[in-house]
Amino acid sequence: MDDLSDLYQEIILSHNKRPRNEGELDPRSGDAEGYNPLCGDRLRVYVRETESGKLDAVTFTGEGCAISRASASIMTAAVKNLSRAEVEARIAAAIEMLTAREDPEIDLTVMGDLAALVGVRHFPARIKCATLAWHTLESALKGDGGVCTEEE
Ligand code: ZN
Repeated sequence: MDDLSDLYQEIILSHNKRPRNEGELDPRSGDAEGYNPLCGDRLRVYVRETESGKLDAVTFTGEGCAISRASASIMTAAVKNLSRAEVEARIAAAIEMLTAREDPEIDLTVMGDLAALVGVRHFPARIKCATLAWHTLESALKGDGGVCTEEE
């Protein structure tokens, strides 16, 4: 298990150091801001939906801790080129995995690098850091302006 934790830590550090898909998206079909006052993480997530209803680009900007930024980076790669329904299912699966009380069963073919974040479940104060990007993506898709994790 230690080897696995080391690997997971490396994945998080690598995404934090070299985030995938960081930057504003223009043109875009939606964006939203997410704020986690517990930690001070502030992210903005941008989405672009094609006419056929696929998300052909998802990017993020913002400042936050390593976990919040790694989660955003992993998320943008994990939902690219999916349909809206598929993205919504993946958001639900990610949030469920990150907040599960029992050790979740993880399908690595679906979760990929996201599995690296499963360890945050053991640090309740950091769970909102990991789920912030996903809630913000949900808000960007709905077009409801943004989320603050305290309001959940
Ligand atoms: Zn944080």
